[in-house]
Amino acid sequence: MNKLARVLLAGAISGTIAFPVQSYQLIGPRWRDNEVTINYIPIVPGAPLQGLTIWNNAMSDAIDSWAQGSSGLKINKVSSTASPCAGIADGNGGFVAPHDGDLSGVSFANDVCGDSWNEGTLAVNVQFSSGGFYSNSDILFNNAVNWDVYSGPIKTNIFDFKRVAVHELGHLFGLGHETENLAIMQPFYDDANNIDDMNMERPTPDDFEGLNALYSVSNSPLVVNLEEPSTNQYSSGVGNIRGWAVAQSGVAEVEIFIDNVLQGNSPYGSFRTDVGNNYPSYPNADRSGFSMTVNWSELSNGPHVVIARAIDNLGNIATDSGLAIVEKFETNFVSSEALVKLAGSVSTSGDEITLDDVMIDSKPYRVKLKWNTASQQFDIVNIINLF
Ligand SMILES: [Zn+2]
Repeated sequence: MNKLARVLLAGAISGTIAFPVQSYQLIGPRWRDNEVTINYIPIVPGAPLQGLTIWNNAMSDAIDSWAQGSSGLKINKVSSTASPCAGIADGNGGFVAPHDGDLSGVSFANDVCGDSWNEGTLAVNVQFSSGGFYSNSDILFNNAVNWDVYSGPIKTNIFDFKRVAVHELGHLFGLGHETENLAIMQPFYDDANNIDDMNMERPTPDDFEGLNALYSVSNSPLVVNLEEPSTNQYSSGVGNIRGWAVAQSGVAEVEIFIDNVLQGNSPYGSFRTDVGNNYPSYPNADRSGFSMTVNWSELSNGPHVVIARAIDNLGNIATDSGLAIVEKFETNFVSSEALVKLAGSVSTSGDEITLDDVMIDSKPYRVKLKWNTASQQFDIVNIINLF
């Protein structure tokens, strides 16, 4: 029997936070051999053992959202159940559920393996570790909570199962709570909503940095760097998703995801003399650029996670991610300059320019531009409707 390390990490319904200001946090243990297997079908009390489609699909999507941005950790998903409370003593000489050989599973539960749920706790991650490595790790969802699956702003007293699942999976992999940067690992359900009014439903660049630091690959045969969007890059209009990738065996492809949806393979192989100079031992590093055009205005206002996932000719995978914060006019595409009239005042402050009463298709906006060193231009960072 492994030494029992039981960690109750909760997404609470409300509360204040007072943690040190840092970037991503790690719990300590990690998965041996950079590989984890999750029996992802949630056990639902009173429901068939094969689960209910809504929770099965949400859990599967939540796992995929991490797997797409994982460089070092191989995340295996098995379509079966495993009791999170297997092998936990029940206090009467028996077990809450029979030993199952260290399987990691998911369940809705009326209690936490025999203990009551803490007030305001949505879900917990129960971890077992020994010698710095997890043996198994499980997720319990509070069965008394009103669960649903939905995108967009959080609803009063209806909790989105999928984003809580994404958060608890972060703990399962070994991530702690993050309180400074935009992250799904914010400790409280509504906090991700409170940072700049952003609404996170999936892992952010900060979350992926934590995961990829915990499962880093030394002397990597494959390196990818997403340069645009960077982290928290304001994005509007037609732009580029671009960066570079180098591999000892050659780069087979660079996949681009936006909000966990595959956009396709990016064109690859443009000149990057700077990368060639920095990576002289990688073949063709001077032809390592990738770039894909994107119309940010087709996306909704707010944050969108972009992942560049490079695969080399030996099947190795490396990822990098960025966060585009979309600011847009009401129309997705302004078809003619005749529809744009600068009718109001211009004011400047530091590296910012504010244009008032910018008329786009006969509707007035206030537009703020700010210098962006990465793109070497003034970017639109704020569009306010004045109608
Ligand atoms: Zn948590």
